[in-house]
Amino acid sequence: MTGPIWNPEAETQAPAARAALQLERLRQTVAWTVERVPFYRERLAAARLRALEDLPALPFTRKTDLREHYPFGLFAVPTSELARVHASSGTKGKPTVVGYTAGDLDVWREVMARVLVAAGARRGDMLHVAFGYGLFTGGLGFHDGAERAGLTVVPVSSGNTARHLLLLQDFRPAGLCGTPSFVLHIAESLVEQGVDPRTLGIRWGLFGAEPWTDGLRIAIERAFGCRAHDVYGLSEIIGPGVAGECEARAGLHVCDDHFLPEIVDPATGAALPPGREGELVLTTLTKRAIPMIRYRTGDITTLTTEPCRCGRTSARIARLKGRADDMLIIKGVNLYPSEVETALLGVEDLQPHYLLVVDRTATLARLEVQVEPAPALLARCEGFRADHPEMLAVQRRAAEHLRRVTGLGVDVVLVAPRTIPRSEGKAVRVVERT
Ligand SMILES: [Zn+2]
Repeated sequence: MTGPIWNPEAETQAPAARAALQLERLRQTVAWTVERVPFYRERLAAARLRALEDLPALPFTRKTDLREHYPFGLFAVPTSELARVHASSGTKGKPTVVGYTAGDLDVWREVMARVLVAAGARRGDMLHVAFGYGLFTGGLGFHDGAERAGLTVVPVSSGNTARHLLLLQDFRPAGLCGTPSFVLHIAESLVEQGVDPRTLGIRWGLFGAEPWTDGLRIAIERAFGCRAHDVYGLSEIIGPGVAGECEARAGLHVCDDHFLPEIVDPATGAALPPGREGELVLTTLTKRAIPMIRYRTGDITTLTTEPCRCGRTSARIARLKGRADDMLIIKGVNLYPSEVETALLGVEDLQPHYLLVVDRTATLARLEVQVEPAPALLARCEGFRADHPEMLAVQRRAAEHLRRVTGLGVDVVLVAPRTIPRSEGKAVRVVERT
């Protein structure tokens, strides 16, 4: 059984035909940038692209290149030809600015419509958008794509949890999208108001903009009684809609007639074959305002070109393990926060609300995991009592499980309900104690 496909011609194209299209579009994109962007002219004027296999010979583009050419230095069109500008929040200094021609916005709507339909959206469905609107691409990206797919959009944006609770109950949307942590916070707040989120009638959800695991997926699906799908994107490439999960949920289908994926070794930059874990590198094939050639996303994943049972023939990426710069080194062991999340959610009696505290005051960094107990455990202990034997036993069990899975001695500390800060956007999972 396979569900509808938004653009069957593009999404089920034979691999050889798609490869030919990719090569043609890649050549056009390189020619476009060489003609219009001095940065690329210097680097690519001598490039020869006889086959897709020649791509790894081209130099990478990095986030620092965007910052160094702030705000419009990498643009291939004058600002008068831009239909819109977005920017990603600059945690270090100036934001990263991206722009779209009217045609680029059209591509964005198309790929978002594909991702929505693959996740179960149907014409006439109402979609509650809990991604932020503004310079961040999440809200408007979903908004435009959902309109294109024939959905009714409720542009709630992030924040203001009380308004989400009210509108979800009164409007009863079929679809929900937002960051996984915010959506879980919404579910928890509904329960606190005596509302079972499963009675809202939400059928499907698309969640992303932060790494999340299958453990969190199960928590969201249990909370809302819906199917939860992963979506991937980044503003430098287009925003959400670069890739998304179909009903098989065996990786995220990359819209690879528009974005060409590669996997490279994050340390050396060497190209890696399908199936090997490494850093995702993306090249835009159709974007005109600010094309990206071999952009280092920083995201760690694997790539597969095996057929998917949904009938789509595009390449798929595995769910993200995290960003290369999110990796923690604790006592010489490399660890992604997502690995801790997976291990933690495999332990009974814990809630998916946790915080990793990295203590660098000692000679060797130590990791403490703070996590909230599940209601069942609280009931057995008659409230939160840190010294209750049952609480201590769960704490011990969690620490042992984490040691088995990560190979690392980790301190697990149960904390009172609502101690871990709830996020109305992207969750903070790691704090440093220095
Ligand atoms: Zn599929």
